[in-house]
Amino acid sequence: MKNSTRRHGEQAALAPQAKTKARPQPVQAEASSTKIVDLQAHGLVTSQAAAGLEAVAERYAVAVTPTMLGLIDSADPQDPIRAQFVPSVLELQQSPEESADPIDDAAFTPVPGLVHRYEDRVLLKVLSVCPVYCRFCFRREMVGPGGEALVGENLDQALEYIRVRPQIFEVILTGGDPFMLSARRAGELVQALAAIDHVKVVRWHTRVPVVAPERVTDDFVSALRADGVATWVAIHANHPREFSPAAREAIGRMREAGVSLVSQSVLLRGVNDRLEVLQDLMRGFVALGVKPYYLHHPDLAPGTGHFRLPIAEGQDLMTGLRRTLTGLAQPTYVLDVPGGAFKAPLDPTYVRETDGGLQLLDGTGLWHDYKG
Ligand code: SF4
Repeated sequence: MKNSTRRHGEQAALAPQAKTKARPQPVQAEASSTKIVDLQAHGLVTSQAAAGLEAVAERYAVAVTPTMLGLIDSADPQDPIRAQFVPSVLELQQSPEESADPIDDAAFTPVPGLVHRYEDRVLLKVLSVCPVYCRFCFRREMVGPGGEALVGENLDQALEYIRVRPQIFEVILTGGDPFMLSARRAGELVQALAAIDHVKVVRWHTRVPVVAPERVTDDFVSALRADGVATWVAIHANHPREFSPAAREAIGRMREAGVSLVSQSVLLRGVNDRLEVLQDLMRGFVALGVKPYYLHHPDLAPGTGHFRLPIAEGQDLMTGLRRTLTGLAQPTYVLDVPGGAFKAPLDPTYVRETDGGLQLLDGTGLWHDYKG
């Protein structure tokens, strides 16, 4: 389908007799809170805690959108939305097994901004900014304001890399958050990928529909699609409260436009490590027409130990989901094997205990030691 060239408002002029109620349009994106002092002003950081958190903010980027601020119960120090976005001094504790590049993207980066780990698909890191900076992010050492965007010669080189490799069937757009692109740049990128004959799927990974739903405008949604490629969007949410009315509308806009939607979540201590929360999260996705896809075990990113739980606990939660939810609502529980090997599903078939600890079986049949 070609991108629509009709501007907003033309429909009414062409069909004045139409009685359908106009759908509310998203408002312009509002600025995120990016400083500890901003979070203090919202009652989320005490003056005693502020000095310690400045040290965290110097090391890792901070941003919380107005939508997410509006969901936090500032009276609850254990609020699961707060835990995801408001910095903690625990982030300054780094354990030996943690790494700045926990899944070793660098080893699979043949040209700037492109990761080629699996034969038939590549990742394009199109920009480094996000509307929020999640405290558990596995790319936390690489994302943040002021980072590089994939433009100019680097973008040309990445597109050429894809163009000359007919085995590349799918291009996954990530970052940062690729929904931070303007509609114009998003459209240009999709059209450039769609012009490569063997690329059949363009998949976007984004947190924007939930954390900054006002950015998912009709123009942006229209830019996601192009003749010759299927557009998939993987929506990242970790707690059912993230499905605000505005997020539901943003997701609905993509569904109405025929975009295929899947979910991704991270299993996080203090956020969604209870069966009832995961049930509501997965049901919430399905009710919005989003197929649960991945539930990630947290990666070994620096300063994120407080979010990790034992794999056995995650497996028990998955057993609970299997016993209680429709098959439609079941995600696959996975871990990217540290060091850049493949993804390991954490079904017990793929995990074994040895004298030295746990081992994980990757998709190629190799066992890897895991010290998480
Ligand atoms: S939006 Fe995604 S890339 Fe950005 S900080 Fe959160 S998890 Fe990391």
